[in-house]
Amino acid sequence: MKDNPFALDGRVALVTGANTGIGQGIAVALAKAGADVVIVARSDPATTRSLVEAEGVRAHVIMADLSSIEPCHRIVEEAVEAFGRLDILVNNAGIILRNDALDFSEEDWDAVMDVNLKALFFLTQAAARQMTDWASQSGQRGKIVNIASMLTFQGGVRVPSYTASKSGVGGLTKLMANEWAPKGINVNAIAPGYIATNNTAALQADETRNRQILERIPEGRWGDPADIGGAAVFLASSAADYVQGHILAVDGGWLAR
Ligand code: NAP
Repeated sequence: MKDNPFALDGRVALVTGANTGIGQGIAVALAKAGADVVIVARSDPATTRSLVEAEGVRAHVIMADLSSIEPCHRIVEEAVEAFGRLDILVNNAGIILRNDALDFSEEDWDAVMDVNLKALFFLTQAAARQMTDWASQSGQRGKIVNIASMLTFQGGVRVPSYTASKSGVGGLTKLMANEWAPKGINVNAIAPGYIATNNTAALQADETRNRQILERIPEGRWGDPADIGGAAVFLASSAADYVQGHILAVDGGWLAR
């Protein structure tokens, strides 16, 4: 559609952890809106690749393990080599490990913080260096979308490193927005509620927990990765050019209770 501010035609998006779950939902939603998609994955993303290409846009796969920051520069370089530039970065890859705070190990602390917070920061830094150059040449804004959590706002139980990492994602989203808004980049986050993915499979399978969760969600259902995809398209589009440092809850009303 002509002059549609939500359209992403000709834009280049990169999504981490895009082989499955929320990352796959976001990659497909960005493709439906017209973006070419760089799929960053640790496990084979063949399904995501076919779903993206079925939308008539280009897909490029980069295999990378984000438990260290070693691949961050290579990922951005390869994305730019493949499609000429990078307009949109979605930091989705993440893990959660559970144990009582009294027993939580340093190993589990580091494992979660390394993927959810450290790799997110250094990949974003590498991408933003490229985006500021491109924004100054073309006048086109870069878009960064971080995947936060309800535990960006709440404490949770038995997930200390996850809560620390996702609270950190909220803080970094605001810091990066403050520094990079004048340089032509929008930085925002999405805080998903309970979304049906591998991450939450055990909760969905537990009859009691499943019932308790559904009773508290005003929408009365688990979210679908496509629900997060819609919010990502908005934040990645020029319709959101004046949205900065915002953490958008997509939670079926969970936080409103
Ligand atoms: P998921 O299905 O388990 O997907 C997580 C993704 O992150 C997978 O693609 C996974 O790759 C990737 N990943 C994990 N460690 C990685 C590493 N070291 N290097 C590269 N990729 C790595 O879970 P999801 O629910 O879609 O989660 C996606 C994001 O949403 C996470 O940041 C999560 O914290 C957040 N979130 C989810 C929910 C929810 O209810 N589902 C709620 C709030 C926030 P592999 O497949 O190779 O492991």
